[in-house]
Amino acid sequence: MITREELRQLADFECRLPGELAVTFYFHPPRPKDKSHREEAIQAKELVRKKLQELDAAARNRELVADLEHILRLAEGLHGNQARAKAVFACRGRKLWREFDLPPGLWDTTLSVNRRFHLKPLAPIFSQHPRLWVVVLDRHHARFLDIDFDRVVEVGALSNPAPRHGRSDGYAGYDGGHAQRHSDDEVRRHFHAVAEFLKNASGRRQFEALVIGCHDVNWPEVEKQLHPDMQKKILGRFSGEFAAFTNERAASEAARVLRDSIDEHHRSLLSETLDQARSNGRGVTGLRRVLRATEQGEVETIIMAQEFSARAVECMNCRHVDAHLVPYCPVCGRATRELDDVCEALVPITVRNNIGLVLVARDEVLDRVGNIAALLRFRADQNKNLRAVS
Ligand SMILES: [Zn+2]
Repeated sequence: MITREELRQLADFECRLPGELAVTFYFHPPRPKDKSHREEAIQAKELVRKKLQELDAAARNRELVADLEHILRLAEGLHGNQARAKAVFACRGRKLWREFDLPPGLWDTTLSVNRRFHLKPLAPIFSQHPRLWVVVLDRHHARFLDIDFDRVVEVGALSNPAPRHGRSDGYAGYDGGHAQRHSDDEVRRHFHAVAEFLKNASGRRQFEALVIGCHDVNWPEVEKQLHPDMQKKILGRFSGEFAAFTNERAASEAARVLRDSIDEHHRSLLSETLDQARSNGRGVTGLRRVLRATEQGEVETIIMAQEFSARAVECMNCRHVDAHLVPYCPVCGRATRELDDVCEALVPITVRNNIGLVLVARDEVLDRVGNIAALLRFRADQNKNLRAVS
C-alpha cells in the first residue's frame, strides 16, 4: 500500500537533466471471466516492448532501457499476484524505484515515460479509500473491523450474553414482564457500549467513515444511542444476522456501501460545481478557468472526466501553466515547454496542495463545458464583505 507522504514525494519528483526519464507502470490484475492472468501479463510485456520500439535513438538511453527491462521481468513474474494491482515508479538516473501493491479497480494496465510520473489514476486513492470502520452487531454482540484498503483487521468486540432465563424458576411465570424489561435494559446498555466504543475510537482518529451491519429491526435503537458526530460519519448500512457476518463478508458489504456512497458524493459534487459555475458562484468550468483558479489558490476540488487530456504549456521558470500554447510565459516572460497532457503538471499540483481530485465517467454535461470543472473554496474576484460595505 501507499501512504500520503509517498504519494506526495512522487508528485514532487521531476527529471531535471537531459536524458533523465520517469517511468510509470500500472498493472491491473485480470477481471474475473474477462482475461486469464497469463493474457494480462502478456499484455503488460507487449506494452513494454512497444514502448522500447517507440522511443527514438536519442531518448533510448541505457538507464531507461534498464528500467523498462526491469519492468518487463516484473510483468513476467506477475502470474501469481493476480488479486493485487501494481504501480511502479522508476528513474534509474536518480536511483529511484518504487513499487506498490494496491487494491484492484483503480486503473488499466498502462506504461508511460515522461519527465514526471503519471499520477492521475493514483491521486484520488485516499479520497476513495477513507479510513473505514465497519461495525457488525446484534442485541448481544458487536465486532469492530478496521478496513485499510483491502486489509481487514478486527479491532474490538463486545459481548453481552442474553440473561439466562429460568435462573429463578420460581418467579419466571409470575415475573415475566420484569424479566423482559430487564432484558431490554441490557440491550440498551449494550448498544450504548457500542456507541461509546465508537466515540472513543473516533476521538483517537482511528477512522474517518463508518458502515454499520445489523438487523433492520435493531437499527432504530442502535441509531438512538449514536452520538450525532458518529451519525455524520455513517456512509450506509447493510442488514443481516450477526452470526452470518464473517469478517470477509462484512468487508465486502462495506466495500459496496462505500462505492455507492462515493458515486453519490461525486454526482452531487459535480452537480453543485456546475450549478455554482452557472451562477458565477463557487464553481468554474473549462481548462483555462480551472488553471487560473488553481494558481490563485481558490480550488477545493477539481473534477475531470477520466479520459480528459489537453495540450498546454508550462513555464520552466515560474511554473505557470497555460492552456494557450504560447512560447513565452505571460507571467514572467521566460520560455515555456509544451505538455502533451496538462494532467502531467496539474495532477502533482493537486497532490502537493491538498486539492481534491475526482475522476468521473463520461458525463454529457461535463463534456459540454470541456470535461473539467472545479469547486472553489472562495472567489478572489468576489469579495462579498467589501460589496456589503459599499
Ligand atoms: Zn513564468
